[in-house]
Amino acid sequence: MKIIAIGAHSDDIEISCGGTIAKAVKSGHEVLMVVMTTSEYTNYTGKVLRTFEEASREGQKAAEILGAKLITLNFPTKDVPYNSESVEALDKIFNEFQPDIILTHWPHDTHQAHRTTALATISAARYFNTILMYEPMMPSGRSYHGFRAQVYVDISEFNNVKMNALKSHESQYKKYGGDFWLGAVEARARLRGFEMLSEKGQCAFAECYEVMRLELPL
Ligand SMILES: [Zn+2]
Repeated sequence: MKIIAIGAHSDDIEISCGGTIAKAVKSGHEVLMVVMTTSEYTNYTGKVLRTFEEASREGQKAAEILGAKLITLNFPTKDVPYNSESVEALDKIFNEFQPDIILTHWPHDTHQAHRTTALATISAARYFNTILMYEPMMPSGRSYHGFRAQVYVDISEFNNVKMNALKSHESQYKKYGGDFWLGAVEARARLRGFEMLSEKGQCAFAECYEVMRLELPL
C-alpha cells in the first residue's frame, strides 16, 4: 500500500502518526510525509524559536528514523492558504504518488494552519477514497469540538521509534518542555492503547484517527 501523511509543520505528523508510519514501513508499505510549510518560527515578540535550517534538518532526521520519504512545501508557517495554490500543490503530489490512504490534520484543530492544511487535503483528495484525520495534540488540540477516535492502530512495538523521531526535533523538544512533552505524547498513546484492551490482552500504545472517508476493500 501507499500511504501519504500531510502535516502543516515539521513534527505534526510524527506526534500523531509516528508509530503508524514506522509500523507501516516495517510491514512493507511505502510512506510519504508532506510538510506544507517551511516550519521556521518567530513568536509575536520577534524571538526566533526555530530557523528554517533547524526545521529542515530535524524533519529529515525524523523521516529517516521512521523510514519514510519527506517532501517539504514552502508555504509560510503560520498561514497555510486554503485556496487553489495549496490544493493544486497537493493535487500534483497525490497524482504522482497515488496514495491508498491519506492521513491529515483534523479540521477542528485550533491551529489555523492545521485547519487549512486539512481543508486543502480534503479538496485535493476528491479522487481518493480513504482519508483519515489524526488526533490533535496540545497546544493546537484544545478544540471546542470533540475528536472522535474511530480507527485505532496498535503501535506498541513502534512507540520507541516514534519517540526517537520526536527527539530529533530538538528545537521543539526545547520549546515544549523536553521530556515533559515526550511524556505527554506517550501518555496519550498509552491511553489509546488501554482503550484497545480486549480478552486477548493489552495493547501498550496506540494512535487514533477520525474517518473523513473510508473505502472498505472486500
Ligand atoms: Zn503544527
